[in-house]
Amino acid sequence: MALMTAQEYIESLRKLKTRVYMFGEKIENWVDHPMIRPSINCVAMTYALAQDPQYAELMTVKSSLTGHTINRFTHLHQSTEDLMNKVRMQRLLGQKTASCFQRCVGMDSFNAVFSTTFEVDEKYGTHYHENFKNFLTMVQDNDLTVDGAMTDPKGDRSKSPSQQADPDMYVHVVERREDGIVVCGAKCHQTGSINSHWHIFMPTISMGEADKDWAVSFACPTDAEGMYMIYGRQSCDTRKLEEDASIDVGNAKFGGQEALVVLDHVFIPNEYIFLNGEYEFAGMVVERFAGYHRQSYGGCKVGVGDVVIGAAALAAEYNGVEKASAVKDKLIEMTHLNETLFCCGIACSAQGFKTKAGNYQIDLLLANVCKQNVTRFPYEIVRLAEDIAGGLMVTMPSQKDFNSDTVVGRNGETIGDICNKFFAAREGVSTEDRQRIMRFLENMCLGAAAVGYRTESMHGAGSPQAQRIMIARQGNIQGKKQFAKDVAGIQ
Ligand code: SF4
Ligand code: FE
Repeated sequence: MALMTAQEYIESLRKLKTRVYMFGEKIENWVDHPMIRPSINCVAMTYALAQDPQYAELMTVKSSLTGHTINRFTHLHQSTEDLMNKVRMQRLLGQKTASCFQRCVGMDSFNAVFSTTFEVDEKYGTHYHENFKNFLTMVQDNDLTVDGAMTDPKGDRSKSPSQQADPDMYVHVVERREDGIVVCGAKCHQTGSINSHWHIFMPTISMGEADKDWAVSFACPTDAEGMYMIYGRQSCDTRKLEEDASIDVGNAKFGGQEALVVLDHVFIPNEYIFLNGEYEFAGMVVERFAGYHRQSYGGCKVGVGDVVIGAAALAAEYNGVEKASAVKDKLIEMTHLNETLFCCGIACSAQGFKTKAGNYQIDLLLANVCKQNVTRFPYEIVRLAEDIAGGLMVTMPSQKDFNSDTVVGRNGETIGDICNKFFAAREGVSTEDRQRIMRFLENMCLGAAAVGYRTESMHGAGSPQAQRIMIARQGNIQGKKQFAKDVAGIQ
């Protein structure tokens, strides 16, 4: 099958019977829901750009499984060049959407599960790798979006999965049958869950023998019987429900999406199982998936950062201060921080290596350094953006005020006239353009889009401490001590 167009992707979602709940109610037409649709548009961009001759070389690639032309979001990386192209593609998508475009979690799970299942089969003679290859071939040939689901609710974090008072705190097998397994549990803040055709579930931590029933990985369709999602709300999200508020929304076209995904006795046929009790491999899949997703942030957040820097520069221009040396210097600092993140994304890719299964894995230490920097630099970038923009980005009246014809002035001026008079930009720039850039920055720095640019930079792909643990493990302090001993002449 050929690659899907953006429109075909959106239409394909309508055919699913995905169960979505929001504000305590079932949402029937979630595809056109004003709070959900921007996140669908965002994923649709991963399809649209693949159709665009200008970007086709970056967005598409030959499948290592079939030789067919596929979207890079469904690809198994075959070289360090592939790994770098992944990061370049994510930067491009970030620039085009200024949002989280969600499809990367699937790509990262494909590559992690592909290499891990190979090594499980090698040890146990299981057939998970074959299962996975068949599944991925179907995904590639149908150009599907898949959610990579990792983060369990975790309950009492001092306890392992098997020690939890409620066993559902981690996804687990509740029944083993001849033809498959039945699973229960949930995954929290799942990026792009509702917009995906399928899900791949993976364990979220290393496990011991007692946790066998929780050491499970599998694929299932998003509208599987027993599965449903509860939509996660975002700051200022209900602005999207207001009439005449496209400017106030900030980024009316695109957005991210997170949901709680619940598995209530979902049956998984044998052919979609990728791990089932081989607990010592839980840690491997976590480490690999997290590594890929920490690399990802050196692309997506950089692309979004490009838009934030551009918006700050426009705000300065509209305010007539773009020539001030302090403003120029802040833009230089923002660029420096943003490009440092890109350096990390490219570096961990360039230092990648071939796994036993044949696909390429990033350098784990550098990917963790990448994500650790992402937990900091976007915060400084938005601080500088807010500094440049000025307080107006959070104090300006609503779009309804700017459009209002209610008379307030002694000479018959309307609320709209007054707003347009006092919020006028420099000559040659419309007040509306100034409104747009201020609201866009508000959205990016502390509105709905801040989920994707700020807090996701902190906690997405693992919170800062998770990277510090990996940095400690990979940092080779013993080797460094030896360097010091050798140079200092210590026996
Ligand atoms: Fe992709 Fe970035 Fe969103 Fe993760 S946070 S899904 S890497 S856009
Ligand atoms: Fe993320």
